[in-house]
Amino acid sequence: MVHCVVLAYPAQGHINPMHNFCKLLQQQGVKVTLVTTLSYSKNLQNIPASIALETISDGFDNRGFAESGNWKAYLERFWQVGPKTLAELLEKLGRSGDPVDCVVYNSFFPWALEVAKRFGIVGAVFLTQNMSVNSIYHHVQQGNLCVPLTKSEISLPLLPKLQHEDMPTFFFPTCVDNSLLLDLVVGQFSNIDKADWILCNSFSEMEKEVTDWTKKIWPKFRTIGPSITSMILNKRLTDDEDDGVTQFKSEECIKWLDDKPKQSVVYVSFGSVVVLNEEQIEEIAYGLSDSESYFLWVLREETKLPKDFAKKSEKGLVIGWCSQLKVLAHEAIGCFVTHCGWNSTLEALSLGVPMVAMPNWSDQCTNAKLIEDVWKMGIRARVDEKKIVRGEVLKYCIMEIMNSEKGKEVKRNIMQWKALAARAVSEEGSSHKNIAEFVNSLFNLKQGIANYPD
Ligand code: UDP
Repeated sequence: MVHCVVLAYPAQGHINPMHNFCKLLQQQGVKVTLVTTLSYSKNLQNIPASIALETISDGFDNRGFAESGNWKAYLERFWQVGPKTLAELLEKLGRSGDPVDCVVYNSFFPWALEVAKRFGIVGAVFLTQNMSVNSIYHHVQQGNLCVPLTKSEISLPLLPKLQHEDMPTFFFPTCVDNSLLLDLVVGQFSNIDKADWILCNSFSEMEKEVTDWTKKIWPKFRTIGPSITSMILNKRLTDDEDDGVTQFKSEECIKWLDDKPKQSVVYVSFGSVVVLNEEQIEEIAYGLSDSESYFLWVLREETKLPKDFAKKSEKGLVIGWCSQLKVLAHEAIGCFVTHCGWNSTLEALSLGVPMVAMPNWSDQCTNAKLIEDVWKMGIRARVDEKKIVRGEVLKYCIMEIMNSEKGKEVKRNIMQWKALAARAVSEEGSSHKNIAEFVNSLFNLKQGIANYPD
């Protein structure tokens, strides 16, 4: 049997797509060991019994990033200890009679390829962000785009013209961390051409030009997404009704949604990392109260809510965390106010929920640009000079999506993306075929038949 170690960066937005990828590998007869950091594994709920979980160290085994205090200390230590403990894990699995044939590693860990090569096993890099964003970072790595940015409008091959508000936030020296994080995302491409496979959580129909171009420069590149739980996209995995591996405990909200009319509720969530300031939370609260729609708001910083704002009312419900896929799949949901994390974007389109884009940092600003202007499956709520989305702007955007002709057009577009996404992961679809090709190559290699992609 072929054995894959799937190494995920310790964050919800990384573990989700890689965990789903594990399930697909397993479905194709591969033995899978999901690996993340020891500190992160301590927080995980619903660890699947069907997939073995192992850990490496980031050097901060108690509380991970929080223990390190800052990105510099975290990444420096992680990059020293990570490769060593990954090698120890591969040795341990080998000794226990379960030798590893392939390491599928998060692209944030270019060092994992060197470890895999030392063990003489296949190294497959997994890009968790979309190819448009990846291509921007790759242009920086290649020296085609200089940071800090000198022009106000950025023209890059196969991408729309980008303004500063559309660029990944790491390009702007507003804090010391940004240059470290830029090194991290650009570093993904330092040795990518040496990887045996380059897998990306996107689908070729969605980013046709940029994926065709990428395949020319990296023949081993394949799209495998959307990597979201397949129960929702199609019914190939019947036992797949869990909430996935989550770092927070989901709160009940489905019963509340059950009472609401079809497409009448706005779902609001900014993912697992973004922390909003009090002023922004207040504006969202007023925007939601003033809008004509029901709302379900995931907010972990509820102490920042205005004093007179009820957490539960006939009109709205505020909770700390939910099973987002189940919420987006609920027929009461009509709109998703989102930070445009790549997983949330893929989930919204896979379930046909139009978006109001409120990006905050990292790749989210580029995703928001693509959502509004390229894929046309949402509209962007713009910030003012203080970088705050005002309540009336949010209210207007919600009403546009829920009640206007423009909203209907956006809904029609996203339904087309939904159909394309479902097709990509179906038996005959591009992503399904790519995964099958990858898995077949591993089985053939195990039997001594070499068939790497040309
Ligand atoms: N998520 C969830 N419940 C929530 C909020 C988010 O299950 O209440 C999941 C969501 O479905 C997605 C992931 O957390 O799969 C967040 O990833 P994303 O890339 O959207 O954003 P990040 O958290 O990395 O900023």
